Amino acid sequence: MALAPGIESVVSPSPAGATTCGYCSPPGQRSEAATNCHAAALHAYLLSCSVYQGMIDRGWRRSGTYCYKPNLRLGCCPQYTIRLDTLKFQPTRGQRKLLNRWNRYVLYGESDSSVMDVDESSKSKSCRKGKALPPFTTLPAAIHEAEEGFHNESETAHTFEVTLEPSSYTDEKFQLYKKYQAEIHKDVENSPSGFKRFLVDSPLNTEPIPYPSEPPDHLPREYGSYHQMYRLDGKLIALGVIDILPKCVSSVYFMYDSTWERYSMGKISALRETSLAREIQEAGASEMGYLYMGFYIYSCQKMRYKGDYAPSYLADPETHEWYPLATCTPLLAKHRYACFSDPSHSSEEGENLEAAIANDSQSQPMPSSSSEFDFVNILAKSDTGQLISKPIRDTGYLSFREVRQELGHCIRGLGQDLTKDIVFTV
Ligand SMILES: [Zn+2]
Repeated sequence: MALAPGIESVVSPSPAGATTCGYCSPPGQRSEAATNCHAAALHAYLLSCSVYQGMIDRGWRRSGTYCYKPNLRLGCCPQYTIRLDTLKFQPTRGQRKLLNRWNRYVLYGESDSSVMDVDESSKSKSCRKGKALPPFTTLPAAIHEAEEGFHNESETAHTFEVTLEPSSYTDEKFQLYKKYQAEIHKDVENSPSGFKRFLVDSPLNTEPIPYPSEPPDHLPREYGSYHQMYRLDGKLIALGVIDILPKCVSSVYFMYDSTWERYSMGKISALRETSLAREIQEAGASEMGYLYMGFYIYSCQKMRYKGDYAPSYLADPETHEWYPLATCTPLLAKHRYACFSDPSHSSEEGENLEAAIANDSQSQPMPSSSSEFDFVNILAKSDTGQLISKPIRDTGYLSFREVRQELGHCIRGLGQDLTKDIVFTV
């Protein structure tokens, strides 16, 4: 059935439940207290890239086509949206070394023993073995230094290619994912359908990126969901799942062949995605300027690495304004839940989840006379068989308590502006 013109985002509210926390307790040792819950959740059939940009700016994130917004006040491990200013980003000495190490390996085939040695003392040894790389000039230059199609070497030890393609399923990708999950996350139960649901399916509607003139060949032409494919000597060694949105490159997931673990592929991918945002901006898409690395979880040491890229900012959980990470960490160290815009809203102790949910005014069903639903449109069938947008007030749906409750969570999580741009199905 055809959607009426102008409808670019269609979603269906989901129950906003609680999930076992995977950050503070390893599998098998989970306790009742280790729970995170969603303030709102929805299944997205279709989302315009600008609506999804607005959603991640309000703390939402997607897993396939399922979108959720964590409730930071109630969860045991509050998840703050973090973003890196890619234009102001300056790689640290350690980050420059990581890139140089990988580039030297690709171009000159450094031996494994020398690449594992990151100390400055290894420098003379490395230089003896291969040619010295030119000095580090810009991030994009270092990122593409050893890449096929960019370097001017007539002969290299290895062939390294990175390509960007619209998100799609292939068996090669699934095999890499299966190996990664088994070796890195000790998770052996993976199916092609699960991989597809989690890392291939996307609700994002592609839109042209408004470059003022023809951009370089390797840059994407459209906003949307992509797979960034890393190939060494033709073999897929890593895959980044990313969304390219009007203001940012958003990292969804990254997987790599554990053979290359010692090169810190995860860190290299963050640098590459930072460079991608910068290159898109430099090609004239002037709104672009950030890398969104997902959630920053202060209570989980393993997730704090995201703060190693500077300057980074955290979104305030209440006003959604951005605060420099350095001003947030003292509050995060002190409070379980930290509110940066008004530190008096912070709370020290984990709240009793059941009691807190019961007391949370946001969980109370709103009376149908409330104006809260005035901007909500739902999908309806027109006389001609087209799917059109219709004010929910003109239907009987608001008489159902579940509809009011789930829709209420969604529209409070989305805010009025995004709600107006979305058509709901209930
Ligand atoms: Zn937790």
